[in-house]
Amino acid sequence: MDKRHFEPEKIRNIGIIAHIDAGKTTATERMLFYSGITHKLGSVDDGTTTTDWMDQERERGITIVSAAITTQWRDHQINIIDTPGHIDFTAEVQRALRVLDGGVVVFDGVHGVESQSETVWRQAERYRVPRICFINKMDRIGADFQQALASIRERLHVTPVAVNIPIGAESTFVGVLDLLDMQQIRWPDEYGAAPVREPISEALLPAALEARRELLEAICETDDGLLEQYLADEQVAPSQWRAGLRRATLENRLYPVFCGSALRNIGVQPLLDAVVDLLPSPLDRLEVVGHHPVSGEEEHWKLSLDEPLCALVFKTVTDPYAGQMAYVRVYSGRLKTGEAVFNPRTGHKLRIGRLVRVFADRREDIDTIPAGEIDAVVGLKDAITGDTLCALDHPLVLESIQFPDPVINIA
Ligand code: GDP
Repeated sequence: MDKRHFEPEKIRNIGIIAHIDAGKTTATERMLFYSGITHKLGSVDDGTTTTDWMDQERERGITIVSAAITTQWRDHQINIIDTPGHIDFTAEVQRALRVLDGGVVVFDGVHGVESQSETVWRQAERYRVPRICFINKMDRIGADFQQALASIRERLHVTPVAVNIPIGAESTFVGVLDLLDMQQIRWPDEYGAAPVREPISEALLPAALEARRELLEAICETDDGLLEQYLADEQVAPSQWRAGLRRATLENRLYPVFCGSALRNIGVQPLLDAVVDLLPSPLDRLEVVGHHPVSGEEEHWKLSLDEPLCALVFKTVTDPYAGQMAYVRVYSGRLKTGEAVFNPRTGHKLRIGRLVRVFADRREDIDTIPAGEIDAVVGLKDAITGDTLCALDHPLVLESIQFPDPVINIA
């Protein structure tokens, strides 16, 4: 029985997007590990990662191009939609981007922005998906955080802001300096031990203060209230800076950047914090746009349980255990087991059988998928990727989900 409350503000539907080999699988795996869902630390190199089952499925000839996995962090529910990084899957990436509210873009610390990251970035831009960046592989020889930041600025034409900076480099990379809370965070070993947080040491303080000044000034440029306080030398609490940064991130004005090494288990927890603190909840996407399948009349409506059902099938897979499974994002209303819905593409009525929530290591039967959520419908016949599911008495076809008040126009 599903007894969850309707708390869309505590949901983060995110995608991890990256150039192939930047470390997306490793970073996803570590995020799942730290958020306590997978108990065993897998490694890509020995083929034990949680998301690796996708590759096995692919080898068996079943097309599985992205998976949605639910996990939890700080009382929030994070649904990770695994967008593929291969260039030939860009159509799939694009489809997945429609259902995301936010993205974590993983870059290789040695290469910075690469061609595929550029392609995927532009697609995310089209859908105005707010993004945070993770400069991974900071332990590698040749990794250069400042250069990676510069490549984001120059190749992607946006304003990246470092929220933490590395302590040490390459083989001596051991942790990060948190520029909002002014802490140094070190990871004592490579095996997933909890990080140690301390005040920033005197030796590292000048670099931290300089980087902090850049961060705060970038936030001030997007927020007059904070700017006034800053200029008047008033105390601004880290939570206020964070709120300002969140706003600027949601408006696609700033792109917060974090560093780490997924492989060495450095920097992943701050990234999870940032998903909760800086990326949007479904409520931040104010408006859903669709049209009537016959009249073509445009409709706009809000994310609410009281609105008519609108859900998008964004991926169908053949699951080895459950059979046909359709991953859906519900935008308004709710999907309920036993209820009938309408598929405007086929003109058919469908009955909703079993609903499941997919965790990294288990499935949970649920009876409702409320607005804002991403889950899976088992045995949904006759529905393909891209189909809208709607209420019988309110047929519509989903087009897009808008963020409020676009501040900048993206051509
Ligand atoms: P994906 O293609 O983006 O999913 O990348 P993977 O997660 O499969 O990683 C590609 C390779 O980079 C694998 O051999 C990983 O072990 C390695 N890798 C991932 N993260 C790191 C890191 O932080 N440091 C180093 N040195 N290697 C990493």
